[in-house]
Amino acid sequence: MVLLGAPGSGKGTQGERLARRYGIPRLSTGDALRAAVAEGTPLGRQAQATMAAGGLVADELVASIVEQRLQQPDASAGFILDGFPRTTAQAALLDERLQTLGMAPVTHVVHLAVSHNEVMQRLLDRAGQQQRADDREDVILERMRIYQAQTQPLLAYYATQEKLVSVDGYGSLDVVESRIVAAL
Ligand code: ADP
Repeated sequence: MVLLGAPGSGKGTQGERLARRYGIPRLSTGDALRAAVAEGTPLGRQAQATMAAGGLVADELVASIVEQRLQQPDASAGFILDGFPRTTAQAALLDERLQTLGMAPVTHVVHLAVSHNEVMQRLLDRAGQQQRADDREDVILERMRIYQAQTQPLLAYYATQEKLVSVDGYGSLDVVESRIVAAL
């Protein structure tokens, strides 16, 4: 399963819930990259400046994180991807890597639909808590710009493949989760 949605749309929270519900792992490339930055690994050092500016880390770097994780035994029965793919080039890389690994292709793509104003408000509220280096107003605007320019085209990519379900991302965590479950 792939989760799609703007920064602040609730992908992380819903991804955790779905992972628990279905007993399959969730892989967030954002979390994996932040862990690499915190540990100061070579990957983290390469990604740090790009992430702090709200840009996209190179496709090959994120694709290799995903590929390694998908080879762990717990991913063999299914997995939830959060934050990858983020561009149509990454979606093509994912299809290719799944095939090389002998794994089934993506079956479900869930889009969490939330308006631009709502996600901006959520992210600015989160920025007040100062937990992430990229939750600053100028960087948030850059992440939103990249989402609209590079990630939104993926909706059409997966709609054409008849894999996309779009779910209203407003409301309590429980309400949004039940909408997703009902839509799958
Ligand atoms: P958000 O959805 O709030 O933007 P994420 O935690 O998914 O946050 O990602 C944080 C940052 O990590 C991104 O702004 C980007 O720099 C980097 N990143 C995460 N996933 C990818 C990806 N698939 N391709 C390129 N960069 C990525």
